[in-house]
Amino acid sequence: MTITSVPHRYAVIGNPVEHSRSPFIHGAFAQQTGKTLVYDRLLAPIDGFAQAVNDFFAQGGGGLNVTVPFKEQACKLAQQHLSSRAQLAGAVNTLWMEHGQLHGCNTDGVGLLDDLRDLGFPPRDRNVLLIGAGGAARGVIFPLLEAGCAQLRVINRSPDRAHQLRDHVLSHARQFRNILHAGSLDEAGGPWDIVINATSSSLGDKPPALPPGIYASGALAYDMMYGAQPTPFMRQAASEGAAQTADGLGMLVAQAAASFLIWHGVMPDVQVVLNAVRRQLAQG
Ligand code: NDP
Repeated sequence: MTITSVPHRYAVIGNPVEHSRSPFIHGAFAQQTGKTLVYDRLLAPIDGFAQAVNDFFAQGGGGLNVTVPFKEQACKLAQQHLSSRAQLAGAVNTLWMEHGQLHGCNTDGVGLLDDLRDLGFPPRDRNVLLIGAGGAARGVIFPLLEAGCAQLRVINRSPDRAHQLRDHVLSHARQFRNILHAGSLDEAGGPWDIVINATSSSLGDKPPALPPGIYASGALAYDMMYGAQPTPFMRQAASEGAAQTADGLGMLVAQAAASFLIWHGVMPDVQVVLNAVRRQLAQG
């Protein structure tokens, strides 16, 4: 008799979710590390996230990645067992079960930091401008501060949200009050060594409306969005004097690797998979 073990099931849950590269990325990690698993896309109804998560784990699911627009709801669902990263972000992108209890973590911050390191721009002692105050910005702001940036200013189209984000961070970590500032897009100031676009403006094929003079000599412009071609923000940055531009594909693969580590206890090789996803993206 042949005994076949049923592979563990994982998925990315969101709405929309059909364009997600996570199944490819996790499939490549599994192949690389010799794990047998199935990784799907799970489209949850906008008003049915909690039910979809409960059903997934009730049917023996191993873990979920959470994407737009459910990261804050995921944080509430796992509120009894959140990592400190998830608590500080107020958002969760990685869910799993342990002893029958739902656990949550946020790996976006570590994904960004890993990619900045690989690009030769670790934030330590650098001045950083963070554009946007949505879920993505929430996930990375505390890790950036902890990584030791000299100054961090968060600016947003709706400045109130930037100020709320600053207040949220300082309510947990008062020590950053002289380093962390907030304002409107007009109040970008500068020049900055690293400028990170954490807005979804590139979806509309337009860069955020930023004032001139924000890039310091040798600066990196980083867009969390990614694509086969440079994003509108990257093109704007290059014409405004950024020395180097990068999209968010490296962050995407690195945050996925951090989720993989949580679920499987093994860290995959990010660069090999990043090269493969980049090739896949170029092929359309
Ligand atoms: P949210 O919807 O939570 O937030 C959107 C943000 O973008 C808000 O700050 C919003 O400002 C701002 N915004 C939207 N349109 C414009 C515009 N035209 N001009 C200026 N600001 C604008 O989205 P997320 O924070 O979850 O995601 C943001 C981006 O980051 C997405 O493109 C997402 O794909 C990407 N991302 C990439 C990751 C990666 O691994 N590479 C990981 C996570 C996210 P306002 O508050 O004024 O509405």
